[in-house]
Amino acid sequence: KPVIVWFRQDLRLADNPALQAAAATGAPVLPVYILDDDAPGAWKPGGASRWWLHHSLSSLARDIEQLGGRLIFQQGPAQACLDALIEDTGAGAVFWNRQYEPWARKRDEAIKSALNEAGVKARSFKGSLIVEPWEIATKAGAPYKVFTPFWRSLKAGHTPSEPTARPDALTFHDHQDGCTLEALKLLPTKPDWSGGLKDNWTPGEAAAHGRLGQFLQHGVTEYSDRRNLPAEHGTSKLSPHLHFGEISPRQVWHAVKRSAHAQAEGADTYLSEIAWREFSYNLLYHFPDLPEANFQSKFDGFEWTGQAKDLEAWRRGRTGYPIVDAGMRELWATGWMHNRVRMIVASFLIKDLMIDWREGEAWFWDTLVDADLSSNSASWQWTAGSGADAAPYFRVFNPVGQSEKFDPDGEYLRRWLPELTNLPNKAIHAPWTADQSVLKKAGVHLGETYPEPIVDHGEARKRALAAFEKIKDSA
Ligand code: FAD
Repeated sequence: KPVIVWFRQDLRLADNPALQAAAATGAPVLPVYILDDDAPGAWKPGGASRWWLHHSLSSLARDIEQLGGRLIFQQGPAQACLDALIEDTGAGAVFWNRQYEPWARKRDEAIKSALNEAGVKARSFKGSLIVEPWEIATKAGAPYKVFTPFWRSLKAGHTPSEPTARPDALTFHDHQDGCTLEALKLLPTKPDWSGGLKDNWTPGEAAAHGRLGQFLQHGVTEYSDRRNLPAEHGTSKLSPHLHFGEISPRQVWHAVKRSAHAQAEGADTYLSEIAWREFSYNLLYHFPDLPEANFQSKFDGFEWTGQAKDLEAWRRGRTGYPIVDAGMRELWATGWMHNRVRMIVASFLIKDLMIDWREGEAWFWDTLVDADLSSNSASWQWTAGSGADAAPYFRVFNPVGQSEKFDPDGEYLRRWLPELTNLPNKAIHAPWTADQSVLKKAGVHLGETYPEPIVDHGEARKRALAAFEKIKDSA
């Protein structure tokens, strides 16, 4: 009887515990991917994620073909698709790696009990995290709400075991049903806006390892210094690969530890970022409302007075603040934005424009190739000040100061805002402060070639702090 391996956010063959366990049974394996767009509700993958998913699945399907198998594609409610496959093939077991999104947990629990009741073995595995949310707790047995002790505990007691290689003795069940990858219609068509994504990314397991290898050779030693500079390629850019499980955090961990630079300060800082991902999953698991509700309920009374036209200006990168606009245009063009700039644009939306963090979260969800329910919601709440272990609300990022500090030569700004290219460094971070003659010489006409700032940061900051004062002392 075949064993179904249900691929989800674990689109890889190596270090894949569900696949490994299926191979170990000796039974033929039936690999399947099910596009289940109803179960996630509002959190079905956004446009950029769907583009990634298509190419990642295409890569996985090719890898499976090379081993003599075929990845089956299905579309619809997962339970019905699995039931039909079991009926058709006589499969005796379904194995998968766990997901932690609230909707996925609910669905998986229901599927597990239905399968077990029907006499089909259902088993789930840890494939996407170093530490399961229920494996790590404070001394009092409560979930961690603060990152540093979480990270300490992870390092001290939960370092991952060695990753496993791709199973070498795989036999496949021959099954010809299912639809084609194209029929899942994951790619944008009218219009096809994916050119920038194509130019910047190669989804798939092999590419994920290529990226990690490059980072370990060239990036990790200086990671602590360069990770905050958006003009440099100072970070690993592994986030979409990790989100879709093309590489596991355990593989990343051990590759860093084995690398020639394992002792560099950058290596430890880098692993702590991997731990932020774990921490976000931990929060999402224990506080499943995190994507929708303020973690600190006092923020429920906050008055979001922002306007729709400002939200639109933010989305399109037309706020008049160069660092914000550069970030939003990088996101639109490539499906990714540098972490420092993500914090700046998020703070700007929430505090300068007084727009609810959930609007920003939704835009990121649709446009990021690495959109991830846990990291996205935890990070937006972190910036808003409403989250666990969050930046205090009164910490309002100054978009000009941040720009001058982290992009002093304006290299990042010029990359994304060609209309400002000829401005001198002194003027590029805040063009409205420059003399008319300087602007004219650079061919910049505020309000025409580039927007005037849509808010005054100094005033906006005061307004935000006053609004916060009103809720500060509530429960
Ligand atoms: P590196 O610096 O190379 O870090 C390595 C890995 O560590 C990343 O790939 C990621 O998996 C993890 N990581 C790094 N920083 C964080 C963090 N702050 N929180 C959680 N994990 C982290 N990250 C996502 O993966 N998906 C999201 O949807 C997402 N939304 C965000 C929204 C906002 C408002 C902010 C401020 C941050 C968000 N992040 C998100 C976190 C972070 O910006 C990205 O993980 C990072 O920029 C990815 O680039 P990288 O792979 O080069 O990171």
